[in-house]
Amino acid sequence: MIHSCFTMGSDDTIFLFDYPGPRFSSPTIKNLVRSRLKDKKAFVFASHSHGDHFSTEIFEFDKITSETYFVLSDDIRVREKEHTLDLMYVCPDDKIDIDGVEIKTFKSNDAGVAFLIRYRNKYIYFGGDLARWDWPEWSEEKRKEHTKVFDETLTMLKDLEIDLAFSNMDKRLSSWAGPVQFIETVEPKYFVPMHTFGNEIWIEDLLKEDLPSNTTIFYYERPGDSIHIDI
Ligand SMILES: [Zn+2]
Repeated sequence: MIHSCFTMGSDDTIFLFDYPGPRFSSPTIKNLVRSRLKDKKAFVFASHSHGDHFSTEIFEFDKITSETYFVLSDDIRVREKEHTLDLMYVCPDDKIDIDGVEIKTFKSNDAGVAFLIRYRNKYIYFGGDLARWDWPEWSEEKRKEHTKVFDETLTMLKDLEIDLAFSNMDKRLSSWAGPVQFIETVEPKYFVPMHTFGNEIWIEDLLKEDLPSNTTIFYYERPGDSIHIDI
């Protein structure tokens, strides 16, 4: 939808990931999200507290859904006066089950967690800001530390059959933060590049890469674009 905010849903259930703060959103985006969530059972995820991944505005969505479960990374601390909801906080390596949705978390190499979700026998991975952060200005040691976490996560994922994966494509880095490595290693059925800061045009470059043909890449150009997936 925008940056790292996406919805994914079936007839009666919807998942919302990393709805951002106002600097990264707009009334149009908010309305789009509201229309997707309306009258559905919603699972609202926030991978970490950074403004491009989390906003307290998500708590308003509880009013329009039939039921809402909030799954927030433990680095998010919301003062109780800001809401009256039951929030679920997760740490790295947690495993929880909410109404038949199994959620496993991995430690991110940025902040918070990544989510692995098992829903209706399908695996969905949402990386948050767990990515190949190999900033050239960092020391070699720091770069190694960060890429190791990403490499290990991919090794873990490649043994599963991932149906749908959301992971970063950030062209500020020469590695693009890892989408090529992700697709080549994990070969998910569907791959959604994210963290583009509105530069969706970056995705065209990913499509030009010689990648495994069994992965379909979701190329979106504007907020609200959607893809029908058959998994
Ligand atoms: Zn971010």
